[in-house]
Amino acid sequence: MPQQRESESRKLLGRLRDAMAEDSAGQERLDKITTLIADSMQTEVCSIYLFRDAETLELCATEGLNPQAVHKTRMRLGEGLVGRVAKQSNVVNSANAPQEQGFRFMPETGEEIYSSFLGVPVQRLGERLGVLVVQSKEARSFSEDEVYALEVVAMVLAEMSELGAFVGEGAALAAPHQQPAMFRGLVGQEGTAEGHVWLHEPRVVVTNPIADDPETELARLTGAVDKLRLSVDEMLSSATPKDKEQMEILQAYRMFANSRGWMRRMEEDIASGLSAEAAVEKEQSTARARMQSVPDPYLRERLQDLDDLSNRLLRILTGQGTVTGAEMPTDPILIARNIGPGELLDYGRRLKGIVLEEGAVGSHAAIVARALAIPLVIQARNITNEALNGDAILVDGEQGIVHLRPEETIVSAFRDKIIMQTEAQERYAGVRELPAQTLCGKVISLHMNAGLMADLPSLVGSGAEGVGLFRTELQFLARNQVPKRGDLAALYSRVLEAAAGKRVVFRTLDIGSDKVVPFMRRVDEPNPALGWRAIRLGLDRKGIMRMQLQALIRAANGRPLNVMFPFVAQFEEFKAARQHLLDELEREKKLGRVVPEKVEIGAMLETPSLAFAPRQFFEMADFISIGGNDLKQFFFAADRENERVRRRYDTLNVSFLTFLEMIIKRCNETGTPVSFCGEDAGRPIEALCFAAMGLRCLSMRPASIGPVKLLLRRSNLDEVRDLIREAEVAGAQSVRPAVMDWLAQQP
Ligand code: PEP
Ligand code: MG
Repeated sequence: MPQQRESESRKLLGRLRDAMAEDSAGQERLDKITTLIADSMQTEVCSIYLFRDAETLELCATEGLNPQAVHKTRMRLGEGLVGRVAKQSNVVNSANAPQEQGFRFMPETGEEIYSSFLGVPVQRLGERLGVLVVQSKEARSFSEDEVYALEVVAMVLAEMSELGAFVGEGAALAAPHQQPAMFRGLVGQEGTAEGHVWLHEPRVVVTNPIADDPETELARLTGAVDKLRLSVDEMLSSATPKDKEQMEILQAYRMFANSRGWMRRMEEDIASGLSAEAAVEKEQSTARARMQSVPDPYLRERLQDLDDLSNRLLRILTGQGTVTGAEMPTDPILIARNIGPGELLDYGRRLKGIVLEEGAVGSHAAIVARALAIPLVIQARNITNEALNGDAILVDGEQGIVHLRPEETIVSAFRDKIIMQTEAQERYAGVRELPAQTLCGKVISLHMNAGLMADLPSLVGSGAEGVGLFRTELQFLARNQVPKRGDLAALYSRVLEAAAGKRVVFRTLDIGSDKVVPFMRRVDEPNPALGWRAIRLGLDRKGIMRMQLQALIRAANGRPLNVMFPFVAQFEEFKAARQHLLDELEREKKLGRVVPEKVEIGAMLETPSLAFAPRQFFEMADFISIGGNDLKQFFFAADRENERVRRRYDTLNVSFLTFLEMIIKRCNETGTPVSFCGEDAGRPIEALCFAAMGLRCLSMRPASIGPVKLLLRRSNLDEVRDLIREAEVAGAQSVRPAVMDWLAQQP
């Protein structure tokens, strides 16, 4: 890096810091900065534009343009040259700005006399904050050194706004992280929560962007990078070589950690006056900006690796480890980009709510959140950048909306909603001990879905008659090692004890598809939901299946045992899996162990093919449970995790209800008990229609039992069945409108 460029840039940063140290705030401070930059860069104009909201930039300070335009001139993202810099997160360097395509003439600023234009984005870690511009009359293109110097200044500005240095005047001057913000995501788990932000991975705060002594900063950076390389080497040596994916990531880490290019850029940043951490962050910001525009998923992942590595380096430099010393609030709402099921289970029920920037409805996190009954909103874009530890936050899991730092009016409306929900809960508690008996005298038995020990207390609280689906994979998802048979037996035994004689249906491992266990090598499949999962995997990897079956038999210790196999697509699979269980029972008997007094072996009906299985299948199965989540996805060929297609097809679609009726009829012909355990069973209107189609047993989230029972108790199934018939005859697509009308007429 040329000496002159270094010292010029350092001088400018030094003056900037002195200006910051003076006793000025808000507008005055911003004005000073623009004067100083214009002077240092020898340009007539320097202006700072900041985002007012996600779409609008506002001129917030200027040296050289008409001061009357400050806080008046606004432009939309992408509009004019300034808008283009912001939108593309890219530099615009033009000798003849008015001639540039997209130039927007703003007469109030008086800028028409300036020919050359240099604009750089002000951004922090991919979060756009504004644009810094210099302009001059002379028609010249700015040199590479000048562009670089302005970028470094923009980086420091970004840090200052982060620290609230501009707070004081006007909305656009307020630092980010202080204003109310609303995020619209998707529902992961219903429910509402009020609390305070707890960041899963707190952001590192850089408090010293400018440094005096490049030598010291360089030494700090080198020391930290050495430590980082060492830790990556350690991770590599303790990784399992068989885990290809993990090895790939770590190799990429090592490559970046040893990259000369990365190091050189950071050294240059330090030489131009930045502190070591600011240098790391500057390169991280550039990489993040690039990440947003790279279409290739592989490259994006690599940039993500670099991002993770930069975070590690920042933590080493600032000493802000994952443990930041911050105390978890008493009402924590967890905010994370994404989170694994194990980490979520570590937090457990302490969390009041969860908001994820990524995630999918059928993801592990969602399954665990549901099992823990914690309201969850997913796909809340940019929330990890906006939220700070301790911020007040409201999570509306009913509508997938999150209010960060909400205003009073929002808080009070939200509290009203919670009160209404509490009142409803009280009404549900009133029918807890009563049967779900309809007006026409049919009794529907309501069971709950579970997967964790923590679910079991709900068995009493919800009024469930038993556990209709115990998803055993949840324990597997949370572990890094194959669980031992003894541990599993102990766990299942505790489940049975907590159930105190109520029926529990254990579903054998349903892994694969989106449920990836950490200890198994991930198999790359083009369509994992249609791939090597559940019983297919169990039958091919008999060791794991048999181990789990043994654990279940031992846990029962003489008590009745109900086992259900997931994702059975044909009779043979069920027969083979069932035979394994019978063999294990035989083996245990021979070993002199107590075997269950009664064993029931069932199948989940989750693929349309099984509905057409031979009669012998229905005769052999002791019970059948309809897994509506998967069945519906395969019936409509609509991915349950793809929000775009998932909602397209209504569960109350007449064809789907007719299909369910056919399954129920086949089960009734052989006297095979049939239940429904997909998520739809927990939706009152869906549950009502299922009951009208002939289902007499439903299994759902514990929180749904009250609402479902209340509706069933005030309904006549014959009337609902007539509505479905009429819809069918009329050729209606869904029976929902008719049921809603009918409900509205009920007393
Ligand atoms: C289902 O598919 O309906 C079901 C209950 O299983 P899971 O949601 O665990 O796939
Ligand atoms: Mg399923």
